[in-house]
Amino acid sequence: MKITRTIAELRGEKPEGTVGLVPTMGAFHEGHLALFRAARIENDVVIASLFVNPAQFGANEDLGSYPRDEERDAGLAAEAGVDVLFAPSAEELYPAGFQTWVEVEELSSRLEGVHRPGHFRGVATICLKFFNIAHPDRAYFGQKDAQQVAVLKRMVRDLNLEVEIRVVPTVRDADGLALSSRNSYLSPAERERALTLPRALATKDAAQARARLNGLDVDYVEVADFEPPVLAAAVRIGKTRLIDNVILEVPDQASAWSGRDETKEKA
Ligand code: AMP
Repeated sequence: MKITRTIAELRGEKPEGTVGLVPTMGAFHEGHLALFRAARIENDVVIASLFVNPAQFGANEDLGSYPRDEERDAGLAAEAGVDVLFAPSAEELYPAGFQTWVEVEELSSRLEGVHRPGHFRGVATICLKFFNIAHPDRAYFGQKDAQQVAVLKRMVRDLNLEVEIRVVPTVRDADGLALSSRNSYLSPAERERALTLPRALATKDAAQARARLNGLDVDYVEVADFEPPVLAAAVRIGKTRLIDNVILEVPDQASAWSGRDETKEKA
């Protein structure tokens, strides 16, 4: 596996065949590895980006303390079949004078957007930059971040991008907690309390989920009309903010991954 740090270097690679891109912020767990494996199966070349994107963190969020371990991540990515790990500096992606942003307006303004203003502007902008730098045929995202998927699918349609957004199911620990790099912040007692989140969502009913989460610091529990619709929630356990969702309807149960053909630019 090759590690590249500059846009010029990555562009110089000129991969042959189809390219699958997996954007990440590192601190890899089985959720990331599932994305890498999906990309490995479907493409000739797999590029993963490892970039803790400052633009998607709010002023009071965990940008400074976000877990970083590039050496470990590089080993795991190589094992999972990643060909190129693109690990640029913030200056490489946001040089002095940077001032162009992508706003997916309405979809970015609710749920997570209410509690993390500017978050999806940062996500959409960095993903568009990665798409322009790596020219992937397919880009892979986790269902865990359902609103991120909805925002990016909308951007692809609205800006006529030639990339297919592929969505990989949420990977969970045996006890049901969705894997997240932020789970490492949880103390054992907090982790136990965090299990209320997947258990509440498993009811697939907003009122029941709300009742189960009663007593926790809940940002929202809502049905979101994404494709497919989900019951989504965000809670704060101590200093850690966790999000999760469950799909309420699967249009095509036969398909292991949602999203094939439905995301590439439509008319
Ligand atoms: P992150 O590094 O947290 O930005 O995540 C990179 C990608 O991995 C995003 O598309 C996430 O949705 C996805 N992801 C994170 N956690 C999981 C999980 N538990 N299962 C599936 N995908 C995940």
